[in-house]
Amino acid sequence: MNKLLVKNCSWVYTLDPENRVYESVNILIEGNRIKAIGPGVGEGTEEVIDGGGKLVIPGMVNTHHHLYQTLTRCVPRVQDSELFEWLVNLYEIWRELTPEAVYWSTLLGLGELLLTGCTLTTDMYYVFPSKTTGELLDEQFKAAGEIGMRFIPCRGSMSCGHSKGGLPPDDVVQDDNVILADMERLIKKYHDPSPMSMTRLALGPCSPFSVTPQLMKDTAQLARKHGLRIHTHLAETKDEEKYCAEKFGMRPFELMESVGWVGRDVWFAHSIYVNEREIRRMGETGTGVAHCPVSNLRLGSGIAPVPEMLAASVPVGLAVDGSASNDSSDMLGEVRTCLLAHRYRTGTSSMTVETAMRIATQGGADVLGFPEAGVIQEGKAADLVLIDMNQLPYAGALHDPLAAIVLAGASHVVDTNIVNGRVVVKNGRLALVDQDEILRNANRISREMVERAEKRTGIEFLKKPALIAGASH
Ligand SMILES: [Zn+2]
Repeated sequence: MNKLLVKNCSWVYTLDPENRVYESVNILIEGNRIKAIGPGVGEGTEEVIDGGGKLVIPGMVNTHHHLYQTLTRCVPRVQDSELFEWLVNLYEIWRELTPEAVYWSTLLGLGELLLTGCTLTTDMYYVFPSKTTGELLDEQFKAAGEIGMRFIPCRGSMSCGHSKGGLPPDDVVQDDNVILADMERLIKKYHDPSPMSMTRLALGPCSPFSVTPQLMKDTAQLARKHGLRIHTHLAETKDEEKYCAEKFGMRPFELMESVGWVGRDVWFAHSIYVNEREIRRMGETGTGVAHCPVSNLRLGSGIAPVPEMLAASVPVGLAVDGSASNDSSDMLGEVRTCLLAHRYRTGTSSMTVETAMRIATQGGADVLGFPEAGVIQEGKAADLVLIDMNQLPYAGALHDPLAAIVLAGASHVVDTNIVNGRVVVKNGRLALVDQDEILRNANRISREMVERAEKRTGIEFLKKPALIAGASH
């Protein structure tokens, strides 16, 4: 079995149940698990990483994302829009997605996550343009394997196009039977339920305003037959609350209860507009939440009541959300914003560094059903991150290195990232793929998609609406 020694680590914050912190210890990795932690363990191991001057933390877990959106970040036309307007405009560019675009955007988003300390992520991919092959998640699994990320994507879906009263254009939505058949295909091909698996599948109808209640029910039934988790967006905006009241006569969470979407195998992105009863129900049933503070602030959606959820024992993980609503896939940056957002909403003591880090690590592992990750402990997954504390922005902050990476610091790029016992980031660069090639291809494809969308629609995506209006005078 392969052995890897992380030697002489200056600080190890385990985030284990006893909250153990070690100084000047070795971590021995055997195969894909942590074998031993302590001074002098594993001496004589051939493959060694120097932990001197480094802080070691458990790899972080990202519980909600749309990796394809890395190609449509910072589009001027929707920089200042709220969710529904933002979606309707960007769908026009997303109609131009191709298998090649899905592949490179997945590498880009996963690369950014690995560089900023994430070792396990989900994704929700739900745009299937009718002119492309439907086998787009296959591109994602391929990319994740190449870059070395532990990956549990959701096969997303949209079945309610514009002509049926939904938001998306008709040519990116699919029929229920096509969606369910592709889910079955992907389960057979990629879902590995073993405890240390690198690929699993979850099922994720996009939202109550883009699929029918019947598809929500059918998806839950299929998932439960195969032991998969289910995920959707819920209670993100006031607009959604209004839409659900008008269309279904229910609040978003009530709608989910009516289609059997509560339980340990369910997690919702956002959940900003949930009331006291709904939070209590989520806690009682173990229904999880992917908390996305940057996206929620960026789109002006609000701040989810996370301290209240934690008090009610709701499983909560952290998430960067789609790259176009965050304009980033910066995991460590998300932890910092999580802390700041809740301090603004409910006071400084409502979100400590340790709580924010626990949400980002084992909170996420719990939400995704992967208990082997999110903690540094003997026998657990060898998913670890090393951060170089010998950097100017951390100087003077070493009284508490864990606080330093959340409260201080100018760069969120980690020194080393180890996933499943394998080094995937080395000296702050992706180790298994060509980082510059990702950058070049992503910029090219992003430009081409916008150009094609502009030509087809006549919409000027690269101008802000106010500037367009001004130009007409
Ligand atoms: Zn999302």
